[in-house]
This record gives sequence, structure tokens and C-alpha cells, in this order.
Amino acid sequence: MPLAIPGPADLHLHSERSDGTESPERVVEVAREAGLGTIALTDHETTSGWDEAATAARRLGMGFLPGAEISAEHAWTGVHVLAYLFDPDDANLSALMRRIRDDRVGRAERLVANLARDYPITWDDVSAQRAGDATVGRPHIADALVAAGVVSDRGEAFADLLHFRSPYYERHYTPEPILAVQLIAAAGGVPIIAHPAGRGRLDDGEIRRLIDAGLAGFELGHRENRPDGVARLRRFVDAHDLVVTGSSDYHGAGKPNRPGENTTDLEMVERIIARASGTDPIL
Ligand code: AMP
Ligand code: ZN
Ligand code: FE
Ligand code: FE
Repeated sequence: MPLAIPGPADLHLHSERSDGTESPERVVEVAREAGLGTIALTDHETTSGWDEAATAARRLGMGFLPGAEISAEHAWTGVHVLAYLFDPDDANLSALMRRIRDDRVGRAERLVANLARDYPITWDDVSAQRAGDATVGRPHIADALVAAGVVSDRGEAFADLLHFRSPYYERHYTPEPILAVQLIAAAGGVPIIAHPAGRGRLDDGEIRRLIDAGLAGFELGHRENRPDGVARLRRFVDAHDLVVTGSSDYHGAGKPNRPGENTTDLEMVERIIARASGTDPIL
């Protein structure tokens, strides 16, 4: 029997458990207000928002896929791997996410120390912008710079002071994407590369290795993708019958992205659910 998945579906949204600006419950409500029927919460390297979002989704009669987004890197190219419906108690995957999360703290402290040489910003200012032990990232530092009147919004901070080419920039630990893909798949989850046709590109050989390692597909509907890169990845999708998603990457007030600005065909949502064995979706 086909699953009854409420549409439309947007499978990439962030809450304040990482660098979104709203609670998981509020993210679900905003998605509902935007007319969505199914969403995935994909906070960076954390599952801490799952329960709250699931409760809100049940209350509103929405579909919900628990997820996460993992920052990886191959040959100096940043690769974000979305993970859906994995077992949150899987030891290897949770250790990987914890390692990234923990390393992000020292990295953010170093970045703030660098900025503090020239701008009025302290670690306390950043903590004030971060909900509890949320996965910390440059957006929280951006918010502290906004609060200090240094820049007017996150976008301005990223364009200059927080850009990876900025003299203040610091790196954090990132796994190879193939490790993230292997651990997500081993945890019963479904790995999909986020915004895969944006800045930087993986070579064909690496893409084939990721597919062989269990990569399920690509987020081809995303505002940062470029048409030529999407066309190239479509050839892999056709050749390997991969899953294709479209999503907003909503971050609340932190980015212009609006819930539902890209959506995922329900047939693809069904394929993600059919492929997963780590956690049940809420439908
Ligand atoms: P980090 O993980 O600390 O390296 O920071 C990257 C995060 O910042 C990503 O999740 C993006 O969504 C967010 N980000 C990147 N560029 C911008 C921008 N121009 N405005 C707001 N947020 C951004
Ligand atoms: Zn983010
Ligand atoms: Fe991303
Ligand atoms: Fe994201």
C-alpha cells in the first residue's frame, strides 16, 4: 500500500538547536503556515530537536522526517551531507557528530579571539546568541557582530569577516564525505548531498565512490545550486537511479530562504522512507 505522505514536502530546515533562529516547535509551525505538509529537521550534527519537532508535527497533523546535516570536506571542497531517518543511538554516527560538534567550539573560540583583535566581540557575546549547547557555527558569531553593531546582518558578516578567505577564519574538524555516507548508511539512515551544485565541485570519481558507499542522492532543488552543476549531476541521477530532493534550507531570520521555496516530490520522500531502517518517520 502506498504511504500517505502529506504534501508538499520540504526536507531541509534548521532550528536553534544549530544555527536557525527558532525553536524546533516553531519551525514546524512556520512550515505549516507556509502550506507544507511534511518537513525534515536537519540541524547541523545534532538530533536534539527531534522530539520537540515530532510532538509539534503530530499536533498539527504533519509528516516529519528526523534528520541532520553533517559538514564534511574532500580535497578542500566543503560537502554537506544530509542524513535522514538514522538511528540516533548508533554509536559510530553519534560519535562522529559529537566530534564535529565539540571541535566547532574551539574553532569558534579561536575565530572570536582573532576578531577580538579588531572588533568589540567576546565569547560571552557569542554564547548569548546561542541556545544552550546548540551546535555552534559562524552564524552565532555573525549574530554577535550584529548585536555589537559591527555589521547589519548575517549576510554582511559572511561576505567579509566570516568568509573562509578572511584572515580571521579558522577551520574545524570535518570527516571525508565517504566516512559520513558510510556511517549514516550503517546507522540505517539515508545520505543525500546538500546543495551539491553550489561553490566547489566533487570530481566524477569521488561521486562514483560515494554512490558505491551508499549515497542515496542529491538535493538538486536548492537556491545555491547552479544550473550547469545540476545538469551534470542529473546524469549521475539517471545512470544510478538516485533520489532527488528539493528543499529550502530554512534558518529562520538568519537567512532569506523561505520554507517551501523548493519542495521534494512525494514519490522521492517515499523512496527515502523505504530505504531507511534507523528511525520511523511520523506520518
Ligand atoms: P559553519 O558551519 O560555522 O562553517 O557556518 C556555515 C553555516 O552558515 C551554514 O549552515 C550556512 O547556512 C550559514 N551561512 C553561510 N553563508 C551564510 C550567509 N551569507 N548568511 C547567513 N548564513 C550563512
Ligand atoms: Zn546552517
Ligand atoms: Fe549546508
Ligand atoms: Fe543547511
